[in-house]
Amino acid sequence: MRNTLILVLGICLQTLTQPLSAATGEPVRDYPFTQVAENTWVIHGPLEMPNVANQGFMNNPGIVITDTGIVVVDPGSSLQSGEMVLRMIRQVSDKPVVAVFNTHVHGDHWLGNQAISAAYPDAPIYGHSKMLAMIADGAGDTWVDLMDRLTEGATRGTGVVAPGHAVKHGDTVKVGNKTFRIHHYGQAHTLTDIMIEVEEDAVMFLGDNVTADRIPRLSDGTFMGNINSIDKIMESKAKTWIPGHGPTGDKSILSAYREYLQAVYAAAEEAFSNDMDSSDVKAISVKTTTKYKDWSGYDEELGPHGAQAYMEVEAAEF
Ligand SMILES: [Zn+2]
Repeated sequence: MRNTLILVLGICLQTLTQPLSAATGEPVRDYPFTQVAENTWVIHGPLEMPNVANQGFMNNPGIVITDTGIVVVDPGSSLQSGEMVLRMIRQVSDKPVVAVFNTHVHGDHWLGNQAISAAYPDAPIYGHSKMLAMIADGAGDTWVDLMDRLTEGATRGTGVVAPGHAVKHGDTVKVGNKTFRIHHYGQAHTLTDIMIEVEEDAVMFLGDNVTADRIPRLSDGTFMGNINSIDKIMESKAKTWIPGHGPTGDKSILSAYREYLQAVYAAAEEAFSNDMDSSDVKAISVKTTTKYKDWSGYDEELGPHGAQAYMEVEAAEF
């Protein structure tokens, strides 16, 4: 009886002294940078959706080393991802971070701002003006919750640190000896996409306007808008093309993703003109997109993409 009481008291005390939930998730494991151009390095993240195993980390953070410091593009999906990016930067350079760019509003790309900003509070963070507006309307909080849910708490401790500097198409941001040119061609993958060209080095950060080995959700974008953005950026003379997800490559990664979008859209046009339903698009597109069947997300997205493309085709008819 006495032992039981002591045990119960012990458990009560233990419960009282433990926080209700873990304050912050565990550190994300190390994913080293790969050099892709003379001054540019990329961590090619996992291709899956954010989950427990990848702790939410699954994008392509990049860095450009200038003569005055390091520019970070898309520091990841969480406080923990951003901290990992900072650890990996130290394997490459001891220069400070002097600027950050965010390619679009999807939280897997920019919630890591929090870690960068904590370490380098003076580094400006740039994003498209529409991204700033959407975060002011609560988009960041939605992404924090989504990441927490998908990772079962691995990203806990993450908060919203939005870009403080709005950029638009045609802007250039000079950092040290490098010029960062902003490209934006309207709604593509989202309303907020910027593609960032490092002019001196012929490097292009594409955001999710182009992905490789992965089929992303497109519910915030449009097929024709995305195809148009790819056509526009194709005119650039860049040599190193860095997608938002998947391996860095040459210009062929643009045509590969464009061809997928075009195939789904063409399947939707065929279904529409034959008086079929939006749910019938997949039966057509599954035959014309076989070369993408091993891309991560293909099985999940092909159906919804067909239905979405059908709505676009329908809207274009009126
Ligand atoms: Zn995205």
